[in-house]
Amino acid sequence: MSSERAALAPERFVLSDGTIYLDGNSLGAMPVGVPAAVEDALHRQWAADLITSWNDNGWWQLPARIGDRIGALVGAGPGQVICGDSTSVQLFQTLVAAARLRPGRTVLITDGGGFPTDQYLTDSVARLLDLEVVRIHPSELARHLDARTAAVSFSLVDYRTGELFDLAGVTAATHAAGAVMVWDLCHAAGALPVRLDEAGVDLAVGCSYKYLNGGPGAPAWIYVAAGLQAEIDLPLTGWHGHRSPFALEQHYAPAASIEQARIGTPPLLSMLALDAALDAFDGIELSAVRAASLALTDQVIAYADEQLTRYDVEVVTPRAASRRGSHVSLRMPSAYEVCQALIARGVIGDYRAPDMLRLGLTPLYLSGQDVDRAMAELRDVLETKAYQAVEFARSSDHPVT
Ligand SMILES: *Cc1c(COP(=O)(O)O)cnc(C)c1O
Repeated sequence: MSSERAALAPERFVLSDGTIYLDGNSLGAMPVGVPAAVEDALHRQWAADLITSWNDNGWWQLPARIGDRIGALVGAGPGQVICGDSTSVQLFQTLVAAARLRPGRTVLITDGGGFPTDQYLTDSVARLLDLEVVRIHPSELARHLDARTAAVSFSLVDYRTGELFDLAGVTAATHAAGAVMVWDLCHAAGALPVRLDEAGVDLAVGCSYKYLNGGPGAPAWIYVAAGLQAEIDLPLTGWHGHRSPFALEQHYAPAASIEQARIGTPPLLSMLALDAALDAFDGIELSAVRAASLALTDQVIAYADEQLTRYDVEVVTPRAASRRGSHVSLRMPSAYEVCQALIARGVIGDYRAPDMLRLGLTPLYLSGQDVDRAMAELRDVLETKAYQAVEFARSSDHPVT
């Protein structure tokens, strides 16, 4: 029975007793090696070694070294991923670069239901370069691709519904129309196997604080396929991406490698924390993570179907395994209040307006028993109407990713 399924590596994470954490798709739990790595970064590398750390402690090489570690988790061979900046910044980089690869083409296609920052940046890039944005659901792509399409930019997993799209199929269709493919892997990296090289993806971005567990504010990353690196023209031409940064030349010339995707001085403390956090994946196959994740999402869906429809709970996430990411969204009346009532009981999920409870299922540290307990608490909150008992102030600073 899936409820007896153990977590894959709970000993690699710090989790407080009694808490069932179903929000690892927003902010992953802290891997055990992070505090010592940050202590070392502070006391030895910064306080004692000072500026020599750029060379002696490998600070300069860190963005590419972490990039390769993340690359290995998303099907990218070495030398194609650089770590740095935020997903939003990396989206700007990739969208402008994608449009520059197809001069004369005038349309950017994106998912109208995609995460807001992706949409805001697509609009801004369109204004900047005088392009048109076409918003569709990824399933409608074939009808909208034509010789005007410069680039297609989708998230692999829908942040609200948990729908998983077909990376290889969408990329192939986009290429058949002569357009550039950009994937946002925020809700996929570390959650399921992704095969960027195999699918021939052009550009991709992702954050590191969700399923990669890099910590609050962990730097994001960008993938530029090796075959594009000689041709690509990235818009954010900071000195770290220069061919010879320490020559301090007056004019920009990009590095020939993925180093050209660096921008400025990276957040070293966050990067060193992320480097230690990635150890949590050592020796673990993403195929095993995927199998365990599907068992947990199956468990939630089956429980909701059997026990919760009488409370007007509806499973929003696709039921087909091939179309499901690693979270399940349940539509229900009073979803916000239900979410708060669960948090008061130590079951931490999140709420997405207007009516969704979103449960992130991260099998590295969640077991089938945890999910059983969480679902029993959810049923009890609905049955006893515990959510009505408390007045909850809606706060505008609630994290929404
Ligand atoms: C989490 C998330 C982001 C986050 O963007 P930041 O710039 O890192 O805050 C962007 N896009 C998607 C699809 C996300 O899920």
